[in-house]
Amino acid sequence: MNITYSVVAPVYNEIAILPEFYRRVKEVMDSTGEAWELVLVDDGCTDGSTEKMRELAEIDKHVRPVIFARNFGHQIAVTAGLDYSRGDAVIVIDADLQDPPEFILKLAEKWREGYEVVYAVRAERAGESWFKKFTAALFYRIIYRITDVEIPLDTGDFRLLDRKVVNVMNSMRERHRFLRGMASWVGFKQIGVDYKRAARHAGETKYPLRKMLRLALNAVTSFSYFPLQVATYVGFAAAGLAILAIPIVIYMRMTGSQAFFGQATTLISVLFLGGVQLISLGVLGEYIGRLYDEAKGRPLYIVSEAPED
Ligand code: UDP
Ligand code: MG
Repeated sequence: MNITYSVVAPVYNEIAILPEFYRRVKEVMDSTGEAWELVLVDDGCTDGSTEKMRELAEIDKHVRPVIFARNFGHQIAVTAGLDYSRGDAVIVIDADLQDPPEFILKLAEKWREGYEVVYAVRAERAGESWFKKFTAALFYRIIYRITDVEIPLDTGDFRLLDRKVVNVMNSMRERHRFLRGMASWVGFKQIGVDYKRAARHAGETKYPLRKMLRLALNAVTSFSYFPLQVATYVGFAAAGLAILAIPIVIYMRMTGSQAFFGQATTLISVLFLGGVQLISLGVLGEYIGRLYDEAKGRPLYIVSEAPED
């Protein structure tokens, strides 16, 4: 069977939302009149979402659950969804209805016009704390500044990808994934469409600060060497300062000035440089840890139940 649209949604303990999500996706996708599938990736759910997905798959052949052996995280879950998708166009969407399924029609329209990556830009975000909005806005802007890839601002993973793009992305098996960056990196004909991001339909965010920081670190390390270069810049600055200080201090000694002497100045400069060195080591460590993970070459995820074809 030839499938036109694959809708890919990662699911992590979303039992409060799943039936409504399925209902709205089905309504929208049926209205296209094309063949479609809904790939639900169960990212280690423990709240009965798994059973619900099996049930949905039982009554509706459009639904194809991919069930993970444990929680692997949002980006990996989406990756698995892309791996299992079969459509000519793949739509990545959150299962919590923050991304309105009805907007898929708009994305599909642009795809029909010939665009190969159609990403949804969050022109407005409802029902999120100022902290989330502020950190998100800051994050997108820092990433934009320090990476070499043109990653669009205020754009999450809600997007439509042409089969060509999906195939390229599926061949990129890096483990610390930042899919938005990868989708920009591949090139092709891209366009953004504005949408209003809704509030979560029910339940709580599955992205605590810890996971947000992880994602931010993955984004930076995957697409930039800037943090590694900071040590070089600070090193040059500190060395330059020291060289400048030598003649000044000699001059002061000769003229009998008492400025700059004493423990406090020594302590401050030693602690400052010690701190900078430790931070640089930590930055190195981040990159080396990622290298090590890649070298181990473990599978990106473990599936305990794959959909039947
Ligand atoms: N999610 C997931 N694994 C995780 C965390 C989240 O599959 O470890 C899913 C979650 O079920 C939802 C989507 O990723 O469909 C986005 O998560 P969430 O809405 O909690 O993030 P937020 O919108 O608050 O940033
Ligand atoms: Mg959400």
